[in-house]
This record gives sequence, structure tokens and C-alpha cells, in this order.
Amino acid sequence: MSRVAIVTGAARGIGAATAQRLAQDGFAVAVLDLKAEDCADTVAAIESAGGTALAVGADVSDAEQVQAAVDRVAAELGPPVVLVNNAGVTRDNLLFKMSDADWDVVMNVHLRGSFLMTRAAQKHMIEAKWGRIVNLSSTSALGNRGQANYSTAKAGLQGFTKTLAIELGKFGVTANAIAPGFIQTEMTKATAERIGEEWEAYVAKRAAAIPVARAGVPEDIAHTVSFFVSEGAGFVSGQVVYVAGGPRN
Ligand code: NAP
Repeated sequence: MSRVAIVTGAARGIGAATAQRLAQDGFAVAVLDLKAEDCADTVAAIESAGGTALAVGADVSDAEQVQAAVDRVAAELGPPVVLVNNAGVTRDNLLFKMSDADWDVVMNVHLRGSFLMTRAAQKHMIEAKWGRIVNLSSTSALGNRGQANYSTAKAGLQGFTKTLAIELGKFGVTANAIAPGFIQTEMTKATAERIGEEWEAYVAKRAAAIPVARAGVPEDIAHTVSFFVSEGAGFVSGQVVYVAGGPRN
């Protein structure tokens, strides 16, 4: 039987590419997003390639919905032993204009969401004596103008990852973080729109500042998740890999 993976925020973008990659790697994949119906395209792509997938609707920042989602995955696909905490939102603004709600929603989705999902899923990993947790950080963890909330959450996820690695290692569970640079998704399209730049021009401008001279695509991140989740990566834990086409872009 296939091992089971949960990917949050998998309706689109990096999460969708990661769900498809893990299915190619042989996992049965729970494609989790706010609304189950939004997961239909990702599930269809996995199934048409011969894989197994289940659409699951849940808000990762809601404890009851998270527990129900993880229980449903365990019942319908099998015990989840891989968790990719990818769901994310931005509410960018300069500090003096940032509202309490902008702060809270970003903390709740990234930090509380990753905490709740991991706490619910780790039980299955410990029972299986094998597990892989991958958290999505960001180069914004190093600081980024207009992202006091997001950069704090993404730096926090790095500390969370290292503590998970220390606590769960003896149960055969690794935890690692990926810090993407500029990746072309709906999230970065919204950023271009917010600052009033045309998408193609924005991508070209960002790519010009990246050492490998191109913008990232969701598959770049999915490939790195695939490595962390692989059998051979069992001695790699508590690490943060910047997948940014260079050391810090
Ligand atoms: P995206 O295209 O905006 O996709 C994020 C997905 O997460 C959406 O489907 C969204 O659903 C879902 N989501 C949001 N809040 C949720 C919640 N409370 N519960 C469940 N699902 C929720 O973003 P992306 O660019 O693929 O980014 C994926 C991850 O990588 C995020 O953690 C992001 O911070 C990180 N990242 C991205 C970049 C980049 O350049 N794109 C760089 C560094 C890090 P809705 O559409 O319904 O809101």
C-alpha cells in the first residue's frame, strides 16, 4: 500500500505542484485547501497520471477542522506519514499601516496552521515510526519591506522546524524547511497587481536580480520537497534550504 502524504494549500501554485510530484513519487496524496471543490483540478491531474488523491476542505488555522481533516485522511487513504505545511497568505503593508487583522491572519495561517496540522499528523508518524515534515518558509524570513507579519511568520517556521527535528527524530521523523525565493504563482501575481506592475515586466525585473537568471516555478519547490521526503534523506533534519536561484534572492 502507498504511504500517505498531506499537502496543505494544494489547490494551486506550489502546493498543487508538490501534490502532483509526491503522487508521481508513489504517495497517495490528500490535497487540502480551504474549499474541497477548489482541489478538483489538482486531484484530476494526479488521477489522470495514474495516482491516488483525495480532496479535503479545511482551514488550517481552525483546530476542529484540522483534526477532522487528518482523521478523514487516515480513514480514507491511510495514516498520513508525510506532511507539507504549504498553505499561506500575504497581507503586505508598511508597519505603520498594518492592521491588527493583517497581523493576525498571517500568524494564524502560517504559524498556528502549521502547528495544528503537525500536532494532528505526528501521531500517525510516531505510530508508523517513520515520517517526513516539510514546512514552507521564505527568503522573506531574512526581512522584507512591507512584510513585517509575513517575514515574522516565515522566520518562526524555521524555529518550529528545528524544534520538531529535535523532538521527533528518535521516532524516525525528519522535519525540514524550504525557503523559496521568487516563484511564479497567484501569490506573486497578486503582489505585482498590488504595486501596479504588469506581470511580465515584474517577472523580468525579478529574474534580472536572480543569479541563475530566471524566476522560479512551483516545480522547483516540489523537487526539493521530493528530496526531503525521500527514503534516502533520513539523516537530513532541522535544515532550511533556500531555493531561490542564488544564496538569498
Ligand atoms: P498561492 O498560490 O496563494 O496558494 C496558497 C494556497 O493556500 C491557496 O490555494 C489558498 O487558498 C490556500 N490557503 C490559504 N489560507 C488557507 C487556510 N487557512 N487553510 C487552507 N488553505 C489555505 O501561494 P503559493 O505562491 O503557491 O505559496 C505556497 C507557499 O509558499 C506559501 O506558504 C507561501 O508563503 C510560500 N512561498 C511562496 C513564494 C512565492 O514566490 N510564490 C515564495 C516564498 C514562499 P485560497 O486561494 O482559497 O486562499
